Amino acid sequence: ARTPLMAGNWKMNPKTLREAESLAALVAAADRAQGGSATRGCDVLVCPPAPFLPAVAAVLAGSSVKLGAQNVSHEPSGAFTGEMSLAQAVSVGCDFALVGHSERRELFHETDVLVGDKTRAILDAGLAPVICVGESKAQYDAGLVRDVCATQLHGALRDVSTEELERGKIVIAYEPVWAIGTGLTATPAIAQSVHAFIRGWIEDAHGPMAAAATRIQYGGSVKPDSVDELMRCPDVDGCLVGGASLNADHFSRIFGFD
Ligand code: 13P
Repeated sequence: ARTPLMAGNWKMNPKTLREAESLAALVAAADRAQGGSATRGCDVLVCPPAPFLPAVAAVLAGSSVKLGAQNVSHEPSGAFTGEMSLAQAVSVGCDFALVGHSERRELFHETDVLVGDKTRAILDAGLAPVICVGESKAQYDAGLVRDVCATQLHGALRDVSTEELERGKIVIAYEPVWAIGTGLTATPAIAQSVHAFIRGWIEDAHGPMAAAATRIQYGGSVKPDSVDELMRCPDVDGCLVGGASLNADHFSRIFGFD
């Protein structure tokens, strides 16, 4: 059985260190009130902006909430102005790293090749990658959902072994771009059908144990009032939450889903 993973991607929010610490403190308190991940049966992850990682790590200590980077470099060190290395992410307490978010792909021109390189580097550093895939509105309208997801999965998992997938360390997040920040959540039926396709793709490429071990999150306008139905889908193993993760009441209602 896969333990659901609810992740908050704070993106380039909040504005100040003080606000980040107080949001993290509220999330940690809600996690403790729910008895932590073991009692709840659901893991929680927050991905703050890079400058806030050490302070958020300190606030989360003593809770079961995990810490993740929103983006990392695949280069080990050196002259890469503005980048954060995986060694640096590890040293400030990250357990996870997002990779291939549609905002990185679209706004920062990240390719499938780069996403594959970053995924490999994340695993080599001992972190768990959350690999984001998903189609644009135009691709959705053109009926290309499966083609886009398959191409992105192929690129991201290019250098990942079957054994690594079987260990359950890789998380896939299906985020239809048309649902991100738009208030348009994919219906549970759409999410379930794409998630089943993704799991089938992993099974074809890496076998049934790898497919069964991989957590597949849904992301795109997940809110307290849409989470319960999404989580009833058999292939939805958690959510990657943007806007609603900036409100501790909303996010804790999401990770305490019914
Ligand atoms: P929203 O929940 O704000 O739609 O963002 C989703 C997302 O992109 C999470 O990575």
